[in-house]
Amino acid sequence: MIATKIEHALTTPNDKERYEYVYDVICSYLDKEFGSKNLCEFADGKCFVNRTDESGYRKGGCCYSYQYKFFTRKIVGRTPCKYLGDTKTYSTTTVIAGDAPSLINETSTATGCTISCISCKLYVCKPLRKKGVTFKISDFPDIDKVFNKKQIKVLESNHFRPKEQIIEKLLKTKKGIMPYFLFVFFDKATIKKPKNDAFKPVK
Ligand code: SF4
Ligand code: SF4
Repeated sequence: MIATKIEHALTTPNDKERYEYVYDVICSYLDKEFGSKNLCEFADGKCFVNRTDESGYRKGGCCYSYQYKFFTRKIVGRTPCKYLGDTKTYSTTTVIAGDAPSLINETSTATGCTISCISCKLYVCKPLRKKGVTFKISDFPDIDKVFNKKQIKVLESNHFRPKEQIIEKLLKTKKGIMPYFLFVFFDKATIKKPKNDAFKPVK
């Protein structure tokens, strides 16, 4: 099914339309995988990682922003992601867990991620990976006919970023001539945070 949709996308000559279509197809697939299979084992608004978190701090998955100490990478602040919708009803999150900068994979409905962030939707925490769950853009059929290697890096590197910004970055990346290793070395895949995107930890 997803292979047919991606094949269909290849007939779309307009880059932006093709990217948006495939972006939506993948997001929809991930939402369904996490939602219908309840991969994160949500119960009472908490995923299985939340339920084993001794701090009892986190609820509803991993839709959190983290602030780290520069050298030690120790978490010094944590706040719910500002793009998360109504957390009372959501049940299909995919988030980052404990030891990494965290993000979520929620549905793109009003009750989950309100900005349809594909990088977040791809995110699988370490405890969930240990259960054999992983998602990579390169695993989707014929995806290399839609996105080049640098664009795939863009899709996987932009947590907390809205779909519109990621699509724009994909279009710019297509025109770029920088070799892949330099693109990665200089962190050119990541959309820079706006200066007013201040971090406000929960008290
Ligand atoms: S941007 Fe990421 S962390 Fe924020 S609500 Fe959406 S999926 Fe969750
Ligand atoms: S990916 Fe996020 S929501 Fe899913 S189990 Fe891990 S911490 Fe919980």
